[in-house]
Amino acid sequence: MKFKFGPSVAILACVAVGAIIAIPLIAVRAQNAAAQSAKKVTHGIVVANMDRSVKPGDDFFEYANGAWVQRTEIPSDRPNINVFSILRDLSSKRTASLIEETAKADAPAGSNARKIADLYRSYMDEAAIEAAGLAPLRPHLDVIAAIRDKRELARALGETLRSDVDALNNTNFHTANLFGLWVAPGFNDSDHYAAYLMQGGLELPDREYYLRDNDRMRGIRAKYKAHISAMLKLAGFSDADARAERVIELEHGIAEKHISLADDENISKANNTWAPADFAAKAPGLDWTEYFRGAGLAKQSSFIVWQPTAFAGESALVASASLDDWKDWLAYHLIEDYAEALPKAFEDERFAFFGKVLQGTPEQRPRWQRGVDQVNERLGDAVGQIYAQRYFPPAAKAAAQEMVANILAAFRKRIEALTWMDPSTKAEAQAKLTTLHVGIGYPDTWRDYSAYEVKPNDNFGNLWRAGLFDYRQNVGRIGHAVDRKEWCMTPQTVNAVNMPLHNGLNFPAAILQPPFFDPLAPAAANYGAIGTVIGHEISHTFDTEGAEFDSKGRVRNWWTSGDFAHFKAATAKLVAQYDTYKPFPDLSVNGQQTIGEDIADLGGVSAAFDGYHASLGGKPAPAQDGFSGDQQFFIAFGQNWASKTREARARQQVLTDPHAPAQFRADTVRNVDAWYSAFEVVPGEKLYLAPRDRVRIW
Ligand SMILES: [Zn+2]
Repeated sequence: MKFKFGPSVAILACVAVGAIIAIPLIAVRAQNAAAQSAKKVTHGIVVANMDRSVKPGDDFFEYANGAWVQRTEIPSDRPNINVFSILRDLSSKRTASLIEETAKADAPAGSNARKIADLYRSYMDEAAIEAAGLAPLRPHLDVIAAIRDKRELARALGETLRSDVDALNNTNFHTANLFGLWVAPGFNDSDHYAAYLMQGGLELPDREYYLRDNDRMRGIRAKYKAHISAMLKLAGFSDADARAERVIELEHGIAEKHISLADDENISKANNTWAPADFAAKAPGLDWTEYFRGAGLAKQSSFIVWQPTAFAGESALVASASLDDWKDWLAYHLIEDYAEALPKAFEDERFAFFGKVLQGTPEQRPRWQRGVDQVNERLGDAVGQIYAQRYFPPAAKAAAQEMVANILAAFRKRIEALTWMDPSTKAEAQAKLTTLHVGIGYPDTWRDYSAYEVKPNDNFGNLWRAGLFDYRQNVGRIGHAVDRKEWCMTPQTVNAVNMPLHNGLNFPAAILQPPFFDPLAPAAANYGAIGTVIGHEISHTFDTEGAEFDSKGRVRNWWTSGDFAHFKAATAKLVAQYDTYKPFPDLSVNGQQTIGEDIADLGGVSAAFDGYHASLGGKPAPAQDGFSGDQQFFIAFGQNWASKTREARARQQVLTDPHAPAQFRADTVRNVDAWYSAFEVVPGEKLYLAPRDRVRIW
């Protein structure tokens, strides 16, 4: 239900790998092919993308991608370009043609195909959307205007609750509603789904946008205020400037109560079980009984409250701020969150702020692409079922499964060989790998959309009902037995994910293709590209968060104290390493915020390297363009990270993304001994680390 422009789920994705990654294949190769006047397409590393004038030991990202960076332009309707975005475009085109065919087929009413067609057509019918004007919004604004007291306010706030956050899978901590619901296996009973509640209430991407005191952020806040005012004016509000002032003040108050993203990622701080009666005692202010009634959760007997201090602070604000301030806040949030369902003037104003100001993107993407995104978001499994049949042959599945098996085996051997780990800790680590469920391509079962009503010519209603459908379906799962084989990504998503409470991985069909995975490429390139992504996801099983879960997905300490101390010391060293990275002179990477992903990157490249060597079966690796097998492996890894990002967006990522910027992810090879020997990296080169300073975790 949220049409957020910023780091949406799709962009922020779980995988860590997602948001940020890199670039290659198909598109890059296609570009090369064009550049070289249609020479045949190459398979393996793309030498034409490299800058061999740079020493790999000085700047590995530039070495692997320098020529690509030189010649690549960020499209004017994008905040960035990278391997992921290029593949996402391919996936979008395929999905678009699939939707078009479906639209022509005149499928029976109520079928998934008909829903796909009606949702897309209603989104594309701009004339009908203009003609409807504010009418679809008005009943909802009237409800807000009619709120008479804080009790009714609490109920209205409860009615906004949606399942739009995800702490551990798609890692989306942001909701503009007062709070967000995440339904997932319980921390303390991973066999049943629990209700996790998370902080919310901000339209800007993170608390830092409200609290950081510098010229850049003050400038953004001034433009934000003007934007709120413009949106309220479009919706016919009087005194829009004064209302905007009060909305931003209220959001500033909420931001002060929010905990940071780095703290959000700390499981032990998040594991707080509250009964309904605890809310009034621990977070007084909001009428919680009414809130839960509004949310349809009046009978729910327990919740896991992720950020107790934020709940206390936000709840107190409901009591202390005036009713009128909250009504303006509710109205503005409604308008903002549904701007994409409203006439063009709303969307344009929204883009002018969230697209241009916050991300630096000059132009909005074509409407059809946004329509495809809507269908993918609202009916993702319905589309994915057709997508998987069409674009993911059994041979690709079998080949990917084999790579996963090799890398898992490599991981096992690495654990066995750890000199610092006690046998009892090793046994549980191995058990986690044994029970790990790896999904390749697409899920075994598909989501049921029968309760989602899609009407022709009702764009606003279709999007509104989509949010409610999703919410009710999730609420309906609370307390029920967990399906460990379920997926949290659609097959057409270019990403991958580790789900720690399920102890499961998803590798969607759309990432299992060139440039990540090319059956015609040498093993070195495939292991360096998709292999390191697979290794990354497996490694999440043992990152700072994953290490807190046992083989059944329960939060349990399965470490000896000595082993855990060693693990913490090693991760602290990696945090310190990332803290030194400065994408901008005035902005550093927050190593604590990115640590889980940094561990996964490092563990991933290490395990994939071992898996690659095992796959050679003792035979020598074929060279390509004079590069040895080991060199190809690392170059392919580096080329995963080819990317260019507009400054505003890059700054946003540093503040809101659990992944470090792409160039530093490529440079993590400096912790891997084999990289030094592959490229003869010596002391004095910028990335050089003495052996004792290299971080070795898994
Ligand atoms: Zn990750």
